[in-house]
Amino acid sequence: MKIFKGISASPGITIGKVFLYLDDNLKVPKYSIGNSELDSELERFHIAAGKVAEDLRQIQAEATKQMVKEESRFLDSHMLMLTDPEFITQIEENLNLYKKNIEWVLLFTVKEFIRILRKADSPYLVERTVDLYDVTQRIHRHLMFHEKISLADIEHKVVIVTHNLMPSDTVNMNREMVKAIVLNAGGRTSHTAILARSFEIPAVLGLANITGEAHSGDTIIVDGNSGTVILDPDENILSEYQIRLKKWVQHEKRLNKLNKLAAETIDGKRVMLSSNIEMPEEVDLVLSHQADGIGLFRSEFLFLKTSGLSSEDDQYEAYVSVISRMKGKGGVTIRTLDVGGDKIIPDLDTYKEKNPLLGWRAIRFCLHRKDIFRIQIRALLRASVYGELRIMFPMISGIEELEDALEFLEEIKVELRSEGIPFDENIPVGIMIEVPSAAITSDILSKRVDFLSIGTNDLIQYTVAVDRGNENIAYLYKSFHPAVLRLIKMVIDNAHDAGISVSMCGEMAGDPLASVILLGMGLDVFSMSSSVLSSVKEIIRSVRLDEAQELVKVVMGMSSSLEIDNYVSEWMNERFNDISE
Ligand code: PEP
Ligand code: MG
Repeated sequence: MKIFKGISASPGITIGKVFLYLDDNLKVPKYSIGNSELDSELERFHIAAGKVAEDLRQIQAEATKQMVKEESRFLDSHMLMLTDPEFITQIEENLNLYKKNIEWVLLFTVKEFIRILRKADSPYLVERTVDLYDVTQRIHRHLMFHEKISLADIEHKVVIVTHNLMPSDTVNMNREMVKAIVLNAGGRTSHTAILARSFEIPAVLGLANITGEAHSGDTIIVDGNSGTVILDPDENILSEYQIRLKKWVQHEKRLNKLNKLAAETIDGKRVMLSSNIEMPEEVDLVLSHQADGIGLFRSEFLFLKTSGLSSEDDQYEAYVSVISRMKGKGGVTIRTLDVGGDKIIPDLDTYKEKNPLLGWRAIRFCLHRKDIFRIQIRALLRASVYGELRIMFPMISGIEELEDALEFLEEIKVELRSEGIPFDENIPVGIMIEVPSAAITSDILSKRVDFLSIGTNDLIQYTVAVDRGNENIAYLYKSFHPAVLRLIKMVIDNAHDAGISVSMCGEMAGDPLASVILLGMGLDVFSMSSSVLSSVKEIIRSVRLDEAQELVKVVMGMSSSLEIDNYVSEWMNERFNDISE
């Protein structure tokens, strides 16, 4: 039995079997061949290398289309390797010398090259070893007809154990069969964590090297509530967790009873608790939890599902399906495309950047790629007549960017009017506050929009300079950092001074520990994964507004996140000793 402690990323308890998903480690076979087979083995190599060259040319053509040629230079060195005479000669010599299959000869030759490169005194040459491995993997895939295993094809109930999952893996996996997710990498606000919560799949992330310990078929316990993972549990632990699992199911049932009640404090202060969704199918969960509308529809996941661009009509249909189902039920806030950074969309993706999280993403990308933006805005406006739609722009960093986005929206409205296409003329427009510069100038920005929504996942990342997905520095990612709390309070006050409402759609809004503080600060809308709505509602319904305001006064006078964390935990424990159970 082995016990691991990681980051609790999505609640729930699962007892199941490991599915070790190590797609990139191809096992290279080794066997002897006869003299008569040498030519055909070499021929296999040239055919596979030719296919890789073709793949690379396509990637390069795409990069050129997207005007990112400079950044795709690494492909040139990949190409050069495929035709490097020294490399090819060495492969031929090793094939004739060892008389083994070409997959093994290729790997053997590459390892020799890498040994030489590593000895070189040049960082440039040492870096080339990565390219060499990359090209070798590509050739091996063609030689071994190895298609990437798709998580969509899983047919048995499993717990996925892997190094990391791309958002596209998570979106496309067979959710019926994935009972829990366990990763070496990732933090609480990484996109895999957000998706796991949305899909109500327990997840523990940031485990460093669990892939080195687990084997497919091992029994595994995943406790997403405490961030604990147990491999090969003994009888005692297994029966203890069977009891915990039963308790958890009862706890869920009790919370579900709150669905039909309003999020209102003991003294009658009503707030809105709405849902975050990534895919239109999630509306079922939103409705079953009776959320006050959808506060964030991350539209980029539509693009992830199709691995690329989505046509105006496809988007229109997806938006109509969500908007019409939410009509009269609090409406929908759809965020325009937030691509880039850690949200990689294969076909439409940006390019390799040194600092992708500070780079060409979200509204910056859209204002540059107006062809893509136009399609989305047209689809949104056309769909707006089916219910209450609010449009929200992500990653706004200052007033000029906001003015540009608003101007573009007006341009599309004029276009639709001239085509006689109806849309909601009074469609509310808001922005996400997820960059410190936007938070600090939220008084200025508030004058130009109908609502603000605080995206704490990014706001915390940019305020304390901590990559939200990096498990090594997750200990510094603090929502109770005094700088973060000051910014949040500033944004709420500025929005209210301007007479507009303010929402929060970052993960902090669904953190029970933060809910009383946010209530006391005056937050109007808390938007979160549907699965955590009732935990927050239970807290809101058990406190008074004045005590929440008093708590805010106390914590705003504190100087460290540790101090605030301890104080708030104790405050909450005194009132809700069963909440953390
Ligand atoms: C946020 O940054 O808080 C947010 C809600 O956006 P995302 O998590 O999609 O970046
Ligand atoms: Mg964000």
